Amino acid sequence: VRNLTMHFDIHAGILRRKVGAVRAVDGLSFDIMQGETLGLVGESGCGKSTTGRAILRLYDPTDGSVKIDGVDIASLNTSDLRKARPQMQMIFQDPQASLNPRMNVSEIIAEPLREHTKMDSAARDARVRELMDAVGLNRAFASRYPHEFSGGQRQRIGIARALALNPKFIVCDEPIAALDVSIQAQVVNLLEDLQRELGLTYLFISHDLSMVRHLATRVAVMYLGKIVELAPRDALYSDPHHPYTQALLSAVPVADPEVEATRKQIILEGDVPSPAKPPEGCNFCTRCPKVMDICRKVSPEFREHAPGRFSACHLMDE
Ligand code: SF4
Ligand code: MG
Repeated sequence: VRNLTMHFDIHAGILRRKVGAVRAVDGLSFDIMQGETLGLVGESGCGKSTTGRAILRLYDPTDGSVKIDGVDIASLNTSDLRKARPQMQMIFQDPQASLNPRMNVSEIIAEPLREHTKMDSAARDARVRELMDAVGLNRAFASRYPHEFSGGQRQRIGIARALALNPKFIVCDEPIAALDVSIQAQVVNLLEDLQRELGLTYLFISHDLSMVRHLATRVAVMYLGKIVELAPRDALYSDPHHPYTQALLSAVPVADPEVEATRKQIILEGDVPSPAKPPEGCNFCTRCPKVMDICRKVSPEFREHAPGRFSACHLMDE
């Protein structure tokens, strides 16, 4: 991903003139390695979901490139994009909203097969059964409708549909956030098992830092449309470099009671600025406990300060 940018124009008045733009995603550059889970974390509204959608071309990015095996997804025309579509899929937050209530399970899972392959109906049925097995859904339920299932089972249907075309890369957008806590772990375990068996690569979007710690290989932290830090999982959690990451992690309870007793939460003052009017200089300068004069004038560059450790902060340049 290079310089990925997604601005939404703001129009106003009876002539609907453009009066500004929401900088939802503002020039992201990072790599996702084959077979890894890159966690993408940050508070709601920071641009995580928009990033996932722009990478998959569910939105047309304003600028930037997204190469999968050398092919720039961001610049494909409609027919080439259609051909590239099977290799990259999305698992959505709300399985209820993303499943057509008038289609039964086998129709839902078979839909991408019907759209993108020449399989006959017998082959499609066989593939649907295989996918139901893979995600732990009872084959006997193939003719039931989404409302007849629990939230966790509906997410399994969504996962089966996402796997139908043998994708290599899946964006998981808060795939467990809408589920009961009691079944979140089952769905996470399923995603991990499938990754291992099928060699999948995940971009795992979540606001849940404990969950991401459990399953990510590396973690990227977003604030106000930008990635502020990206690092291998253990390095990020044990030694966060960026002041925003430090504040985010300070709010996460620690399992070890001795460590928990000494945990000092960093409280950030003020609200996140509007992405239609981000501050001059560093995006985080209005709330950063370590802000310096330069931060209000010059935007820090996102770069590799130590092997595998990227961040955007003037403190790292000292
Ligand atoms: Fe804080 Fe300055 Fe670093 Fe931004 S560049 S995170 S304001 S110290
Ligand atoms: Mg979101």
